[in-house]
Amino acid sequence: MTDTALLAVLVAAVGGTLAGRAWASSRMRGVHGERPAFRASPHYSQGLHYLASGQLDPAVHELLKVLREHPDAVEVQQVVSHLLREVGQVERAIEVHRSMLARSDLSRAERAHALASLGTDYRKAGLLDRATQAYDEALDVDARNLHALEGQQKLFEDQRQWREAFEAQTRIARLRKSEDGLVLAFLQAEMGNEAARAGRPEDAEAAYRTALSLDRRAFAAYLGLAAQWRERDAHRSASILESAITAVPERAYLAFEPLREAYASIGEPSRFMALCERLIEQAPRDWRARLALARHLREDGRPGEALGLLLRALEANPHVLLVHLEVWRTLREMGQLGPEEQRYVSTVEESALYVDPHICTACRYRADDMLWRCPHCHEWNTLVEERVGPAAGGQS
Ligand SMILES: [Zn+2]
Repeated sequence: MTDTALLAVLVAAVGGTLAGRAWASSRMRGVHGERPAFRASPHYSQGLHYLASGQLDPAVHELLKVLREHPDAVEVQQVVSHLLREVGQVERAIEVHRSMLARSDLSRAERAHALASLGTDYRKAGLLDRATQAYDEALDVDARNLHALEGQQKLFEDQRQWREAFEAQTRIARLRKSEDGLVLAFLQAEMGNEAARAGRPEDAEAAYRTALSLDRRAFAAYLGLAAQWRERDAHRSASILESAITAVPERAYLAFEPLREAYASIGEPSRFMALCERLIEQAPRDWRARLALARHLREDGRPGEALGLLLRALEANPHVLLVHLEVWRTLREMGQLGPEEQRYVSTVEESALYVDPHICTACRYRADDMLWRCPHCHEWNTLVEERVGPAAGGQS
């Protein structure tokens, strides 16, 4: 591995992929075999040392000193500006990018990269119009600049312009030669939801079908599609939800409510119980199927059986508040609670306790509910139920 390539990996690891990419692109620069003067600076070595140990602030501090000594070192400018953004100093990052763009000796790729980075600075600062403009300019300089395309795509997503986001993602996938089917499918599902809300059921249906043809794991598309058929044909709605559970069993719980309704409206409510029982058999630690089944039993006038299920659910998942709450409700149903306890349960029910905490496996963002797109790192389908104990955390 060359010196520069090694640094690219290092910078990517501590400063984010974009910083790494900036560093890698700078290896094209420089006269072959010649060691750039800034590398002799002690601040440069010190900066790298801080980078390697993950200390971004002191690394930025040292690399800024290198820039003062060698204002022409594009490679350092690129990395410093990325790091400044990483540590939250977006305004200074913008400054560095602007001074880079004022230079007349940038290569086409370097100019496009600096413009794209400036766009990301603006996006981080919430200046969406300027971000759009900077990305557009970057793409004018280099239509294949991935950083600009990716930034533009995120901007479209942030502004819920799903069709534009889908088109941008398609271009990115083609350029990167990557398999982005799942993201594309989720974008189609959003297009479907939008069409459904706007009262265009045919468009909604078409978008959901496209989503599932792109990736069968796009759970949101099944939910949307099933909702489209709920009124017209409950049998069909139920069978769509059943396919969802088969395709993505770990998301089954998101289909419980609509499925229960669908079975009830076709006059076969017991199919819901059979489904829960099957899921419990498949995943004995799963508390959601037990909880759903227990609720069903309680409402069916069988609180004793419900309680047994709930207590078993708690053995493996003692932290789940939703299950505790259901235990109290069941005890109330069984006439086991005095007036004081009943008041307590009512208070609990009215408070915000029944949040359903989820966590992003990519960035550890915590949400009160299930979301398809992480509001923090903007990845799709990365939120999972938050677990306590050895199962905690996903692989990022
Ligand atoms: Zn995230």
